[in-house]
Amino acid sequence: MKTIGLIGGLSWESTSVYYSYINRTIQKHLGGIHSAKSLVYSFDFEEIAKLQREGEWELATEKMVAAAKVLENGGADLIIICTNTMHLMANEVQRAINVPLIHIVDCVVEDIKEKKLTKVGLLGTRFTMEQPFYKELLTSKGIDVIIPEEQERQKVHDVIFGELCKGIIEPTSREDYISIINKLVERGAEGIILGCTEIPLLIHQSDIEIPLIDTTFIHATKVAELALK
Ligand code: GLU
Repeated sequence: MKTIGLIGGLSWESTSVYYSYINRTIQKHLGGIHSAKSLVYSFDFEEIAKLQREGEWELATEKMVAAAKVLENGGADLIIICTNTMHLMANEVQRAINVPLIHIVDCVVEDIKEKKLTKVGLLGTRFTMEQPFYKELLTSKGIDVIIPEEQERQKVHDVIFGELCKGIIEPTSREDYISIINKLVERGAEGIILGCTEIPLLIHQSDIEIPLIDTTFIHATKVAELALK
């Protein structure tokens, strides 16, 4: 079995879910009391979130590259970044290491193709929804991506940082998200990418009728399966 390196703490609320999914997937495949071989580099999220807020992406990239190198030097055979937003610097991270970085969008594309969807709504931080790094990878694979309107994007973003990354689950925020999702459905979305690893803490498949693309689950499961190849 290969050793998985997780760049986490972004936030730890979703890293703990990654850790659980990865171990459960290994146990499911190998049985008994098998579990994943893994290393976790867990950031203090406030340090990274501050760099995001201030647009200090170069500094943030340096920190991500340094974390990946620590994991590689510690023996990781595969590395994942346990957040969608910080795939903004995925290319720089991959270039700095000699082991594969399993990109979250590659896993998402695979899932969307399996579900045979062509037009999807994207929810995530403002960075993920508004900057090109995430959407362009999807559109380059022939997937049409739509995002909420300005005020709704702010709402989605604020709930992530003000509630979900602190472990707070508010039913009123769930209602807000569902109404934002419904507007995307009216605009033709056939599926919804939960493009922030904390959103699956709030929104579940039972809350909406069209398929959800749970990036945390998809990414964690994929890397665990790759660790067994
Ligand atoms: N975990 C979130 C994501 O998947 C947000 C945290 C961050 O800004 O890195 O994008």
